[in-house]
Amino acid sequence: MAGIYIHVPFCYSRCSYCDFYKTTDQSLKHEYIKAICKEIELNSQFFLNNVVNTLYFGGGTPSTLSCNELAIIFEKLKKSSDNFSPAEITMEVNPDDVTDAYVEELVVLGVNRISMGIQSFSDDHLRKMNRRHNSSQAIDAIRILKSHGIKNISIDLIYGLPYMSFDQWKSNVQKALDLDVAHVSAYHLTFEKGTPYYDYLKKGIFKEIEEDDSVRQFDYLVKEMEQNGFINYEISNFCKPFSQSHHNSNYWTGEKYLGLGPSAHSFDGNKRLWNFCDLQKYCAFVQNGGVYFEEEELTRIDRYNELVMLGLRTKEGIDVNRLKAILNTELNVYFQDEIRNQIEHGNIQIVDNYYRVTDDKRFITDRIISELFYITD
Ligand code: SF4
Repeated sequence: MAGIYIHVPFCYSRCSYCDFYKTTDQSLKHEYIKAICKEIELNSQFFLNNVVNTLYFGGGTPSTLSCNELAIIFEKLKKSSDNFSPAEITMEVNPDDVTDAYVEELVVLGVNRISMGIQSFSDDHLRKMNRRHNSSQAIDAIRILKSHGIKNISIDLIYGLPYMSFDQWKSNVQKALDLDVAHVSAYHLTFEKGTPYYDYLKKGIFKEIEEDDSVRQFDYLVKEMEQNGFINYEISNFCKPFSQSHHNSNYWTGEKYLGLGPSAHSFDGNKRLWNFCDLQKYCAFVQNGGVYFEEEELTRIDRYNELVMLGLRTKEGIDVNRLKAILNTELNVYFQDEIRNQIEHGNIQIVDNYYRVTDDKRFITDRIISELFYITD
């Protein structure tokens, strides 16, 4: 099984915390669609050799594309192989792009999962993040999606905001639960270089919240989500039973995927490839037969670090057998030493042949991962 990710780099405005590759210039949309179609052609072997079970439109803001523009891409994908019929087709949307007419057409195209960046239900927070929607638009968008029969809806929330009180976070979690969606992704704010929020941090306008406050917000989130029937199947992701993102789960279990569009990443089982983060350059190179990506063969150490990083973030943990297939003697000595230490500190436990982070240490998962990383000089 394999996945396809299509990066749509267009946004109508820039959110103050975001460092994803994007542009607010819409003038290259036509060139972009042509380049995506060409890139599909260039990867004909991928379509012939793999059964694609997930298709994911991420961004940027995929809902900046009209249904006609999306239809051109879908048409090309269908022509790429006789049996192109992914079971899960996800599209990221912005709440204020969700209209009856748009959703109706998305359903006709085959989109059956929607991921919507709500981030907060406070209009004050949304303004501070420079989001272009407000809270009532988000709630209305969910109603519209459901009225068109879309059951598999995921929403994104952000916590750890410097101006958000604990009570406001509690209210956001409760409002998310009231929406009765199948999936919630909740991310702690990180200050990424190149974003306005990073500058505010450096200038002292913002201060990172205390770790105790982050832990309190995370613990509240996990407790409320689990009490309401959600499974915390990955550190930032919660789903109702059988509603996990298959696309993202495939990343975490090392399946192959093809990334199309500027900045998109691919994995063919041995190599990682990443397309240029420059729309103009990407379009020109794809059309003119140039090399529009960089690539790297994964070493044994890369594979080990990746398995640790992706595996420990999931509820299931790291499959001992997958780990054994990667470790050589040197890595095994290192791993056994480190894991013993983590187990002694109560950070990791072994359950059913999986190493997993213990429930009460979930918030420090990234720290545990970094301690298990094998770093070469
Ligand atoms: S968060 Fe989404 S909508 Fe906002 S700038 Fe980033 S990619 Fe665009």
